Amino acid sequence: MGEYIPPIQDMRFTLEEVIDVYSLAEIPAFSAVGLDSLPDLLEEAGRFFTQVISPTNRTGDLQGSSLNDDGSVTTPDGFKQAYAQYVEAGWGAISFDPEYGGGGFPWLVGIAITEMLTAANMAMSLNPMLTQGSIHALHAHGDSDLKLKWLPKLITGEWAGTMNLTEPQAGSDVGALTAKAEIQEDGTYLITGQKIYITWGEHDLTENIIHLVLARTPGAPPGTRGISLFIVPKFLTEDDGATGDHNDVKCISIEHKLGINASPTCVLQFGDNGGATGYLVGEENSGMRYMFTMMNQARLAVGLEGLAVADRSFQQAFEYALERQQGRRHDTAKGQSVAIIEHPDVRRMLMTMKAYVEAMRCLMYLNAKTIDIALNHPDETERQRGQELTDLLTPLSKGWGTDLGNELTSLGIQVHGGMGFIEETGAAQHYRDIRIAAIYEGTNGIQAIDLVGRKLPMRDGNVVFELISEIENTVRELSDEGHDNIAKPLNAAVNDLKIASTWLLDNGAGSTDDGLAGATPYMRMFGTTVGGWLLAKSALTAHRNLIQGTENTAFMEAKITTTRFYVEQLLPQVHGLLPMVTSGADTLYNIDAENFR
Ligand SMILES: Cc1cc2nc3c(=O)[nH]c(=O)nc-3n(C[C@H](O)[C@H](O)[C@H](O)COP(=O)(O)OP(=O)(O)OC[C@H]3O[C@@H](n4cnc5c(N)ncnc54)[C@H](O)[C@@H]3O)c2cc1C
Repeated sequence: MGEYIPPIQDMRFTLEEVIDVYSLAEIPAFSAVGLDSLPDLLEEAGRFFTQVISPTNRTGDLQGSSLNDDGSVTTPDGFKQAYAQYVEAGWGAISFDPEYGGGGFPWLVGIAITEMLTAANMAMSLNPMLTQGSIHALHAHGDSDLKLKWLPKLITGEWAGTMNLTEPQAGSDVGALTAKAEIQEDGTYLITGQKIYITWGEHDLTENIIHLVLARTPGAPPGTRGISLFIVPKFLTEDDGATGDHNDVKCISIEHKLGINASPTCVLQFGDNGGATGYLVGEENSGMRYMFTMMNQARLAVGLEGLAVADRSFQQAFEYALERQQGRRHDTAKGQSVAIIEHPDVRRMLMTMKAYVEAMRCLMYLNAKTIDIALNHPDETERQRGQELTDLLTPLSKGWGTDLGNELTSLGIQVHGGMGFIEETGAAQHYRDIRIAAIYEGTNGIQAIDLVGRKLPMRDGNVVFELISEIENTVRELSDEGHDNIAKPLNAAVNDLKIASTWLLDNGAGSTDDGLAGATPYMRMFGTTVGGWLLAKSALTAHRNLIQGTENTAFMEAKITTTRFYVEQLLPQVHGLLPMVTSGADTLYNIDAENFR
């Protein structure tokens, strides 16, 4: 089984030349951080994740985490040591506020580091991912005492965070949750109820676990308007961070799953003995609003799982295709077998993986940069534009990215033939692990509804149409610089995206069955077009580098060819998706539910 090799060259090209990470240094929050250390940082991180984290991936899958009789959870061999090294190296702290011990780097840099961690071991990466989500929520909405008490050890990774939304009757519909929170005389709250599917809800990697829990106070309004957010630590904690008694929260079971076996997915019982002590974050009944402010980061982080695991699957398929001898080509002598990478159909599969992975990397890095601008730019107009783009790109990163994660890891198996279906090769693990990413953090169906129902209608569609204009500008640049073979298919795709967007707006977008019926194909169409646009920008840059002279000639030429493959072989699906977006809901409802079978 191949080990993970961080694609530093493509990461750097995308960060530096396509997304222009260094322009973030103009934002005061990042001016002193030393962005010019980025290349060394990436190299160092790459070495760490390859040598320390990646070797735990297979053991984690085989052993899984296990629940003990006392409610504790034991992680697979090597996890504690690897995680301790991760904390010691400070990788999790890179993109957080220096006031609480963070490194102060942009989220864009944090996302590049997280890509490597996730590819090295997706199941383990979920622990820091949930911790980072907790940090974002507390940083944005906690008061200064609360931040001083909880943030520093979450930022170092000495403590882990969790997110507790889901209950048996409250999945996609978070507003249906019933966990209770009652205020005590000392101002703390007693939390009671059960949460299910809580990722890394219990484990042995950190000295404390800080659960962020959504619950209702007595008399709270129904639905999402009556939800409050609480900190419920596993161990009660003094202001100086010293841990004390076990809180009234217990893991009562962990799930048996298709993948991410090392990540314990827990049923947490709050208040078996009267109630767990919780601390209110911000104001009562604002919990859902607080969750929404950190949702973009969390959803991008899940989208990134699609990219990271697909890339690892691609690397492994590529290695296998170089080695496996099978069959001959039409132009080789009888009896002489070739490596399967010589067959056009295997090339097609590998190029599909490569092109989508590189397109996803562009999208997700751009998405991270827009988050940095939205949160930190000194100019209000720039912040607003950054926020609008973040809002638009996030469902694409999450929905399109994780759909592709599923498809590409399946292709990774296909390249292996029968060996892909055999667990020992490890190709199947990527396929099993990534399956969840299209489900949690809002299913991809919910992402598509968000895109059509909330994001497309922003400023009467103008946020979308401004992005479309930007794509059209790139089309013109491509034509001007002699790349009609890329410009024409990109132009055709963006025209269809325009037609689909207009049709959805004219047909009620997220408020009609007709609009909602087209949501998923629209998300696919949008993601595919934006991916093509960003690859086209990459090709333009690569071409300019070749004209000016570069040491990386082979890389730049490959980038142009990869873009051509994308626009010739992958982008045309947009034309088939258009009638899927615009055909309405008629055929979905013409058969009564009882007559489906
Ligand atoms: C391994 C794992 C880890 C998880 N980690 C966490 C965690 O750490 N914290 C946490 O709080 N939760 C977690 N979850 C829960 C996860 O977020 C939910 O499973 C997810 O939101 C979907 O909810 P559900 O399972 O109830 O499915 P349902 O909501 O029942 O959805 C079933 C199907 O119906 C569709 N659907 C539902 N409502 C609509 C609608 N309005 N319109 C169109 N389609 C709809 C969905 O898209 C889906 O296809 C985890 C789940 C798993 C399996």
